[in-house]
Amino acid sequence: PVRVRFAPSPTGPLHIGGVRTALYNYLFARKMGGKMLLRIEDTDQNRFVPGAEDYIMEALKWVGIEIDEGQGTGGPHAPYRQSERREIYQKEAQRLIDEGKAYYAFDTAEELDVMRKRLEEANAPAAQYNAITRMQMRNSLTMTPEDVKARMEAGEPFVIRLKTPRKEEVRLNDLIRGWVNVHSSAIDDKVLLKSDGLPTYHLANIVDDHLMGITHVIRGEEWLPSAPLHVLLYRYLGWEDTMPQFAHLPLLLKPEGNGKLSKRDADLGGFPIFPLQWTDPFSGVVAKGFREEGYLPEATINFLALLGWNPGTEQELFTMDELIASFDLTQVHKAGARFDIQKAQWFNHQYIRLQTDADLAPTVQQQAEAAGFTCSLDKAEKIAALLKGRVNFAHEIFTEAGTIFNAPTTYDEAIVTAKWNEDAKQAVMVFHEALQSFDGEFIADTIKHSLGDAMQQAGIKQGKIMQAMRVALTGSGAGPDLMLTMEIIGKNETVTRLEKALA
Ligand code: GLU
Repeated sequence: PVRVRFAPSPTGPLHIGGVRTALYNYLFARKMGGKMLLRIEDTDQNRFVPGAEDYIMEALKWVGIEIDEGQGTGGPHAPYRQSERREIYQKEAQRLIDEGKAYYAFDTAEELDVMRKRLEEANAPAAQYNAITRMQMRNSLTMTPEDVKARMEAGEPFVIRLKTPRKEEVRLNDLIRGWVNVHSSAIDDKVLLKSDGLPTYHLANIVDDHLMGITHVIRGEEWLPSAPLHVLLYRYLGWEDTMPQFAHLPLLLKPEGNGKLSKRDADLGGFPIFPLQWTDPFSGVVAKGFREEGYLPEATINFLALLGWNPGTEQELFTMDELIASFDLTQVHKAGARFDIQKAQWFNHQYIRLQTDADLAPTVQQQAEAAGFTCSLDKAEKIAALLKGRVNFAHEIFTEAGTIFNAPTTYDEAIVTAKWNEDAKQAVMVFHEALQSFDGEFIADTIKHSLGDAMQQAGIKQGKIMQAMRVALTGSGAGPDLMLTMEIIGKNETVTRLEKALA
């Protein structure tokens, strides 16, 4: 059975790219009838941000990604937080040492710096601490066992490094990218266990994926360069037979395609699902978030799903269930996906239209009241019904409703010049009179009849005066359905506005 994991590091709010990774894992798991795990990779204590773990779980919940097993849910492989599993990694690192596949290294930061500089000057290839340079460094391959032991007993800090083979081909078949071949000389003798006794990402990740029975590793392209090292680790640990399959997802790019979309591109949409309760201590800026901007979770997963994948049809709007049904991991694109915030807004527009009026009404009411108007929920619902097709975000409905809440103080001059003729004035007068004796329910339908009858009796062609009527009532030459607008502002206000226009 398929088992996938989302394995974020709690280093801050979830970037939108991280959410896409979680989503693709989830879609694949659900499609295959498998399980979705959440593992917290918190072995880098320097980058740890308090609150980030809860934040991650809340963000996943908000977009509708359900975790079957892992942090916050529990399961047979607990704990799912790497900082609580250190003995497990230490044991495996020790096994690699015992089998001659890893070694202790005592080099100080300064010594490593000197080596790096020397290599730079010599224009050395990518790998630095490797089969050649390791012989000049201070490690258990160059020191006597007694020396190693003495240093350890004296409490000298050390790390455990992988003993990368000198001349080997490392291959992996990525589900999205196909075969990737790397020569082992390009792979560093990576640190597996740090001097604080905690594992590095590489060791912890492989050990956990193995122990947790992960079948598919679906993650961002930034991890592709590490994948050969991971294959090597599976081999060394004797787990090659059950090694998961890899799928490296395309990067999210800026809209122009000029580079990766980063946290710093807030104006382009490079912001997280919602800000962590955390203000940047340097800039003092509180990050924006999709939730705060007014995106709906349904819209968010819909546009995220289509960043790097499409079903090969014209369909653009998908519910989560539809995404699950259509998703195909092997159809994920290799090329980076351009993130277009306008497209994201378009998706939100589609989903705002699909919201019920009752769902949108509280937002309208809150904003109206905050601006000093009284607005019943009933009225707010009507306003939502009238305007939801014209906005991208729920909070824009109130802005759009300006002519409902405010009687006009000015009138569109071009329309006045062109349309405010004798017929128009006559029409407004006649309608005003008709409203004096209006005694039915003041709703769009009856208003329409009343207006129609009045115009007919006065012998005025209704089509010719409608724009003038609209300007009289709203000040503007264009806008949403006028009958509904009158219904919402009510009879008294309609009458008042007509009088004001005639004055
Ligand atoms: N902890 C890694 C990250 O934050 C996980 C990478 C992986 O999925 O292997 O991206």
